[in-house]
Order: sequence, then structure tokens, then C-alpha cells
Amino acid sequence: MTYLGAHLSSSKGFYKMGLAALDMDANTFQCFVRNPRGSRTKPVDPAGLARLRELLAERGFGPIVAHAPYIMNPCSKDGGIRELAARMMAEDLALMEHLPGNYYNFHPGSHVGQGVEAGCRQIADMLDAVVRPEGRTTVLLETMAGKGSEIGGRFEELRMILDLSACGDRLGVCLDTCHVSDAGYDIVNGLDGVLAEFDRVIGLDRLKAVHINDSMNPTGSHKDRHAQIGQGTIGEEAILRVISHPALEGLPFILETPTDDAGHGEEIRRLRSALKHRSKKL
Ligand code: FE
Ligand code: FE
Ligand code: ZN
Repeated sequence: MTYLGAHLSSSKGFYKMGLAALDMDANTFQCFVRNPRGSRTKPVDPAGLARLRELLAERGFGPIVAHAPYIMNPCSKDGGIRELAARMMAEDLALMEHLPGNYYNFHPGSHVGQGVEAGCRQIADMLDAVVRPEGRTTVLLETMAGKGSEIGGRFEELRMILDLSACGDRLGVCLDTCHVSDAGYDIVNGLDGVLAEFDRVIGLDRLKAVHINDSMNPTGSHKDRHAQIGQGTIGEEAILRVISHPALEGLPFILETPTDDAGHGEEIRRLRSALKHRSKKL
């Protein structure tokens, strides 16, 4: 089973998000669980979440991914911003308890001159403070493009956070194809090598979700500008190799390409039909 989906435009209510995903032939999706730019939480709607939970089970969805707000920076120099990050994540994880067995993905953050090690320590400290051992959500660190002082552009940096935290298997990793390519990992010409490197440094058992995005910029550019599949430097062929790679079987693959829900529906249908043709050829 290939779990394909997209990041949904938010503000719809949880059950409607499930319906929107079905509309685009998706069997997973990603969403924000609060205003992505602000700190305000939507009121938790247990009934809507319960209906979504039933829909996902009935329709055979793979795990879904909640994405933390972009403003979250758990390794800011400013203690107030770090506290806000911890509070937002704690609230979001409480909400996710209504959807057990899914993922919560966040950007590790920018250390803003404090250094990678200090930043990784702050991130690990926050995780230790907010991730409950009995929680039923796996918290994912996203691989980043390594823009500015962003942490997570190297697999080693994510490894350091995992090592510094006491959360153990409550933590996983989400690989973003645009980000790793921009960070300098050549997934177009050397996907097997990149995955072997991921396995050596982090462990493929930690990889829980994949963001499938093309990139507007060449590998190593450290830019983080997503492109639609086939309209960037990665290309549809390389993306299809990612989705059909045996080491990644069963993971949710989520589009975060610059288009709307309808555009994502078209991309998903195109990818599904290309995957069918590929498997016939092999
Ligand atoms: Fe992200
Ligand atoms: Fe991403
Ligand atoms: Zn990005």
C-alpha cells in the first residue's frame, strides 16, 4: 500500500480535512492543528476528532502528520520564545491524543549564533519536558535545508538531538526531499547512498514520514524553496524512485508543493498512475 497525501489548507475542521483528503485520492494527509503563523490554538473539538478517527480507520488511511507552526523555535536565544515553543508543542500533543498512533512533525529550529550543540541541547530539553512517555504520538524532527543557522541540515545534527533526549522511541524523523537536496544530499543521482547514510547516522527505523517536494534550487543551495513535482531540480523520476523505494515502504508520503488542494489532487493522481506504470515495467 502506498500512502500518498498532501498538506491540506487548514481552517476546515478535522472531519472536513479527512473528506478533503479523500477528494484528492489521498490516503494520508498533513495539517496544522493551530494557526500556522500564530500561537492561538483552535478550540479542541473532540467530536470532530472522533469522527475523523473513524473515517481514517474506515477508509484505510496510513498515519497522518500534524505539522507544528513555523514560528516555533525551541532553540531560540530568547527564553520566552523557547517557552512558547514548549507550550505550543505540549498543547498540540494533548490534542493529538484524540488521534492516537499518528505523527507530530516540527522544524528543529535555528540556533541564531548559539552554536549547533547548544541548540541541539535546548531542543532535546524541550522534548524531554513536553513529550510524555505514555503519549501515543511519535514526534518527528524534520530534515532541513540548512538555511542560515537552521539545525537539521545534517543527519548528524538530528542524531545529536536524539542522543541528547531521553524520549527514546517517542521520537522519529521526517525526511523532506526538497530540504535534503538543498542541504547537499544528492537524492537524484545517489538515492541509495543517501538512504545508506541516513541509516548509518540516524537509523532507517527512525524514519516515519517523507515530504515529497521538488526544489527550485540545485542540491547544496541551502535555500528551501519548494517546487511542484516535475518542475524543479529533482524531477518526477527521482521522486517516483523515492516513493517506490523498498526501504521506505509503508511510510506516508506528503506533498508540500506550492499549489492548492485541487492542484495536490492532480499531482497525487498523476503520481499514482506513474507508479502503476513503473511497477508494470519492473
Ligand atoms: Fe516542514
Ligand atoms: Fe517539509
Ligand atoms: Zn520547506
